[in-house]
Amino acid sequence: MSVSVRVRAALAVVMAGALVAPALPATAAPAAAPAEGPAAAGPAAAGPARSTLVSPCQLPTPATGWQHEGPTNYATWLPPSGTVRGIVLFVDFTNAAPVAGELAGRTSMFSAAPNVFTQASYGALNLQLTFDTAWRHILQPHGNFAGYKSSFTTQRSYVAAAVAAANAAIDFSSYQIVYVVPPKSASTFDISPTWIAAPGDGVTADGVELRHAVTFGQDVDYWGFKILNHETGHLFGLPDLYSYNNADSIHRAVGGWDLMGLISASAPDLFAWHKWKAGWLTDSQIDCRTTTGSASTVLTPLGTAGGTKAVVVHTGGNTAVVVENRQVSTLDVASGCFQAGVLVYRVTTAVFSGGAWSGGNVPPIGGPFPVEVVDRTPGSDVTTCSAEEKALVNATLTTIGHTVTYGGVTVQLTATPGDNREVSVTVV
Ligand SMILES: [Zn+2]
Repeated sequence: MSVSVRVRAALAVVMAGALVAPALPATAAPAAAPAEGPAAAGPAAAGPARSTLVSPCQLPTPATGWQHEGPTNYATWLPPSGTVRGIVLFVDFTNAAPVAGELAGRTSMFSAAPNVFTQASYGALNLQLTFDTAWRHILQPHGNFAGYKSSFTTQRSYVAAAVAAANAAIDFSSYQIVYVVPPKSASTFDISPTWIAAPGDGVTADGVELRHAVTFGQDVDYWGFKILNHETGHLFGLPDLYSYNNADSIHRAVGGWDLMGLISASAPDLFAWHKWKAGWLTDSQIDCRTTTGSASTVLTPLGTAGGTKAVVVHTGGNTAVVVENRQVSTLDVASGCFQAGVLVYRVTTAVFSGGAWSGGNVPPIGGPFPVEVVDRTPGSDVTTCSAEEKALVNATLTTIGHTVTYGGVTVQLTATPGDNREVSVTVV
């Protein structure tokens, strides 16, 4: 990136200002703000394509913008591979103290998060969390950080204050991610945005520049431990798949089929597309189609390692259609709101995180989203499931002969050997 630090910071604020934190439908919302929050700040996303992906089914990186479904620029975002170490800090304020047991409770809850990445990455990513053992004191009222979810610089000042408060006890040179947890009584912090700084814009401590953080809020109690995975997903370059438009049905694009959509979903594994983008799937595990014609592929379940995980049809320009096989797994939990089967979705790099529309020429299924599931049963809800999930629970192809078509791509389920699924994909 050739832009200056000053320009990057200014753009970060502009981008942040455009990202209004969404809210869940009232029926699902607790008293506290439930939205986990967009990545509230950060630099422009333009940058070099990752070198490990050379497939013609890779989509082009947008010239400008925020998090997207194209190749991740790891000069800014954090590579999601190997051992990644995070320190969880607990900070209180002059006007907000924790209650007894709060630190232990948060520690216990978040301890479940690393396994989600171990499972989703087939062991390629080892997130190691270290929990601080005491509340560190930021000698200011929490209201001083009221802009933390919309201003890059305010969120930066909060991260810097937390790091400074803990620095006597913590060697930050051991960590790549800083997680900041306030007491529940610090009402300023309702949602949990990530903070991503370009090189030079970070917070320096113990000789290292810290550029990746999550500042948690009260919505932790609504979402549970997987909010740490969702927010850390942003640090790895994954976009939000729900809509930032409060007037929208915010989870209508992907329902509960990906952790970057609905955190509380029944099937919150990450799409094969995201696993490929993260480098957890190799090009050899993607059946890439760039020409017309018909061919069959056997897809192994997304939740287990090995085999062909997706058919990706590059339908032109910045758009692809993806086919994957979702079966019950550690992350896709068996329930009436998880209908195992073949899932088909459209991916585009013309739309950024949260549906911020950047132009382009994508025929939207229902609106401008980075990813949209192609519903085999449009208009049919599974009414026993949550409002966020019910429309797309039965999107999957579950029986031989089931077929969906989108954008010139027809996918038919043709055989069900064990947990594998054979699909015929025809491109016209
Ligand atoms: Zn998010």
